[in-house]
Amino acid sequence: MSAGIPKILILPGDGIGPEVAAEARKVLDALRSRHGFHADIAEGLIGGAAYDAAGEPLPEATLAAARGADAVLLAAVGGPRYDSLPRDKRPERGLLAIRAGLGLYANLRPAILFPELAAASSLKPELVAGLDLLIVRELTGGIYFGKPRGIETRDGQRVGVNTEVYSESEIERIARSAFTAAQLRGKRLCSVDKANVLESSELWREVVIRVGRDFPEVQLSHQYVDNAAMQLVRAPKQFDVIVTSNLFGDILSDIAAQLTGSIGMLPSASLNERAQGLYEPIHGSAPDIAGKGVANPLAMILSLAMLLRYSLKRGDLADKVEGAVRRVLADGLRTADIARPGEATVGTVQMGAAVVAALGG
Ligand code: NAD
Repeated sequence: MSAGIPKILILPGDGIGPEVAAEARKVLDALRSRHGFHADIAEGLIGGAAYDAAGEPLPEATLAAARGADAVLLAAVGGPRYDSLPRDKRPERGLLAIRAGLGLYANLRPAILFPELAAASSLKPELVAGLDLLIVRELTGGIYFGKPRGIETRDGQRVGVNTEVYSESEIERIARSAFTAAQLRGKRLCSVDKANVLESSELWREVVIRVGRDFPEVQLSHQYVDNAAMQLVRAPKQFDVIVTSNLFGDILSDIAAQLTGSIGMLPSASLNERAQGLYEPIHGSAPDIAGKGVANPLAMILSLAMLLRYSLKRGDLADKVEGAVRRVLADGLRTADIARPGEATVGTVQMGAAVVAALGG
């Protein structure tokens, strides 16, 4: 973190992004006005909003501001309006570019089930109550970036090509991040790969085992990705920390998200070597509910809590924010996505206001 007042860049993006970002901003402002927290806060453009304003999903100015910030709080990008744009102009490109531009290779995705929401899970409450796992997903390598890629003609027909590539150094640094996280938690790490079929996975497993020698107190296990997907819905509490590739992590973390009942509750963090981070809810821009004032802002607010903890080293403030979220859930407040049938619901703004009120101070 830079010396002096920390700099936070907020990127609201598209769809429900600006709605949930506004609530996180209120929480930040309450921390500043009532809890003696000092920070420079700026806002910028990304995704479709940036394309509309500047013709690019990640304008240079946004990347420069992100590079100069200690942490970036991003809501969500994308929307049907942009789906017909050329691939390099699409909102999701902005997301991949900012992750790459900041060198954010470690994506930390906690899946924690708040006890009040156990009934919201699609699994039986006894399988998920008390669930607390962390998926560490490699974020800047693998098949989303590997070359060759493209659509070309072979033997008279079109073929789509993507390539899974991992270097030893890429595997080594994500393994280190995951072992370090496991050390701070339950000291169990499960590496997920497809080493029975893919050479890139064979190397992945070899390097993870090698890095593990530096972390003798962490118990390392391995699962093939198909088995891991099954285990996540059969007995998810067996996991403490999972480390896996970009593609497998993308899929497994959405399974883990569903275990907790709502995609609207889950934050994530992406870090580089300097603990500079991008913090974002795992959900997208939810075009189906955008503009209706019903989006759940808690994933965004919990992303802010992670930002305070991991990049700003303000665990005290992170505890306050998480405590406030716990309190509003215990008080029975529910947005539509986490309500049981027939239960009364509140909108985005009411939920945000309740969290601000629960912060006290
Ligand atoms: P999504 O996460 O936007 O929505 C999936 C479902 O979850 C929808 O029914 C939505 O209404 C609901 N949902 C999501 N967030 C919610 C919240 N906070 N409160 C209540 N309900 C919520 O995923 P999608 O529909 O597959 O994608 C929509 C757009 O978002 C696409 O353009 C996609 O590319 C983009 N996307 C962006 C990100 C990101 O910015 N990180 C991630 C995923 C998808």
